[in-house]
Amino acid sequence: MRPTALLLLAALSAGAADWLIAPPKEHAAVRRSTDGREVTLSNGLIRRVWRLTPDAATVAFDNLTTGASLLRGVKPEAEVELDGHRYSVGGLKGQEEWAYLRREWLDGMTASPGAFHFTGMDSGTTVARFAWKRAPYSGGQPWPPPGASLTLHFALDTLPGVKVDVHYEMYDALPVIAKWIALKNDSPRPVRLNRFVNEILAVVESESAVEDPVRWRPGSLQVDSDYSFIATHARPDENAVAHWESDPNYRTQVNYSLKTPALLRCYPPLGPDAIVAPGDAFETFRVFELAHDSTDRERRGLAQRRMYRALAPWSQENPILMHVRQADPASVKLAIDQCADVGFEMVIMTFGSGFSVENEDPAYLERIRQLVDYGRARGVALGGYSLLASRHIDAGDDVVNPAPIFGHSPCLGSRWGEEYFRKLRHFIETTGLAVLEHDGSYPGDTCASTSHPGHRGLDDSQWTQWKTISGFYQWCRARGVYLNVPDWYFLEGSNKTAMGYRESNWSLPRERQVLLARQNIYDGTWDKTPSMGWMFVPLVQYQGGGAAATLEPLKDHLDYYERHLETNFTAGVQACYRGPRLYDSPETRAVVKRWVDFYKQHRAILDSDIIHVRRPDGRDYDAILHVNPALREKALAVVNNPLDRPITRTIRLPLYYTGLTDTAMVRIEGGAARKVALARDYTVPVTVTVPAAGAVWVTVE
Ligand SMILES: [Zn+2]
Repeated sequence: MRPTALLLLAALSAGAADWLIAPPKEHAAVRRSTDGREVTLSNGLIRRVWRLTPDAATVAFDNLTTGASLLRGVKPEAEVELDGHRYSVGGLKGQEEWAYLRREWLDGMTASPGAFHFTGMDSGTTVARFAWKRAPYSGGQPWPPPGASLTLHFALDTLPGVKVDVHYEMYDALPVIAKWIALKNDSPRPVRLNRFVNEILAVVESESAVEDPVRWRPGSLQVDSDYSFIATHARPDENAVAHWESDPNYRTQVNYSLKTPALLRCYPPLGPDAIVAPGDAFETFRVFELAHDSTDRERRGLAQRRMYRALAPWSQENPILMHVRQADPASVKLAIDQCADVGFEMVIMTFGSGFSVENEDPAYLERIRQLVDYGRARGVALGGYSLLASRHIDAGDDVVNPAPIFGHSPCLGSRWGEEYFRKLRHFIETTGLAVLEHDGSYPGDTCASTSHPGHRGLDDSQWTQWKTISGFYQWCRARGVYLNVPDWYFLEGSNKTAMGYRESNWSLPRERQVLLARQNIYDGTWDKTPSMGWMFVPLVQYQGGGAAATLEPLKDHLDYYERHLETNFTAGVQACYRGPRLYDSPETRAVVKRWVDFYKQHRAILDSDIIHVRRPDGRDYDAILHVNPALREKALAVVNNPLDRPITRTIRLPLYYTGLTDTAMVRIEGGAARKVALARDYTVPVTVTVPAAGAVWVTVE
């Protein structure tokens, strides 16, 4: 428990529960004021309020957990650039002081001349962004996330037939609001949408600094988006479509050069430069605004993980998987048989296996179809690997770009790109392929070609490629095809990304790999749930390192094989066990089965969020703690000993997020339960003796 979280507890009003422990009973709802002049969207955790007259504008955005106002001024709801002319959408004019916003000022504000003006509103419930076909390893999360929606309609006299809708959704039990806009063209001529800004908020500054700091502190509003690829999403908790800019209106700020980043504007890095035909509509990407109630890293991470559990529930699918190294039928059947025998749930024909999703030979398709059926009959989903980004096709089909992110990349809008996705869809439809490992997804490369069929030029090249890749992932999601994608595509439908890795580490000597793996998991689970990240175990040589780096023959290196199994399964993390087989002797089989059984026995708590106790450093114990207040087994701690001698340590387990308040029943390795009183900071002391290079697990009820 960190002091900031304790302060938050003090700030919670009497009787109010922590939303991360007990979901609030209040549902998201739209309420119109009795005088009709305002509408409110609230779920008990956050509240956003719009004035509707003389025009519509956001006039309050509050964090109800802390009581803080997030807004200090009134801006337009959005901006659009149509055929080279910029228009505001809604908004009110007349604010003089921009450090804060008093309610009594609102009555004196006026509509902006030349803006799209408010014409009406609709409200309802949340709608699924796309279809999700559940698989046997899916959880029971609701889809769409339950909540309320509000749509504000805008039009402009000088552009008859052109309308802008501003959409909001707010979700139950989550301090998140989603926003996007749609441009409808009911005029008789095409409209060119050069640019859009689909969120503008005069946000309360995160700090006041007279001079310009190297890096401003992050504020309490975290902005995410489904417009995400490497170019926009280098960090899990930041999206580059959220531009934190200075506000020229805000003249009373402390920063001498008026550069405080207190104006949020959300727009794509380029484009979309879309031509909207008569009768058509254009919908922007969505932004998701998460209002944090703390500066504590664990608490902010828990909030983000909760958001992904709700907005991308397929990211909670966590099948136990193996990477088979050869894609010939005999090798694949051996892998499936061994997986089915010990309880693995997925086999992926890995890179370099000979599997080709672009092969259209009917005999090949039939062979894969039979293997997919063979796996399905044994409860094992079968899929394979395909490389997209970083490939060099030819000058006519690669992106026309001086510096593609991976050095080379095909343009998804080239003729080759269009054929590639046609082949993938045909392959999946014909064979029933259940998994696609899509390596090097679309990274965000722009393309200046004017001859590619999928885009007209540079300005629409990123938007159209994003539409292609996200449309394909959503097609996969609707068919229940599991998507292992190295980039951050969760909100567009992908299931898993890398936990965090350096590829060459899997060619290091065995003993170094285990500790590095634990560090990767520890660091990768601040922003991700265990299911959202994959790890890797090279059963055979990966890129180098020879015999010292590999686990085969497995029976000869059973100690390190078990350390990998234990590290991953106790973290609730699935690794790509890459090789021809999972076991090579009865003893090896018993070890694999024991850890699969352990994971399945404790699956609910192991798939739950991780509290970070002590980072692996090879100098003393390291520990993580899974927590879930909704389960009977409310916590599972894993204490690892990297040293070459047994150690005995008394560790204070932080049980705040288990929801337990007075006492805990603690069991070491499934032994007898011991009743322990929680200290004032919600910790309990647990003394464990951990064998050399071993681990001990502890459960809490
Ligand atoms: Zn192109």
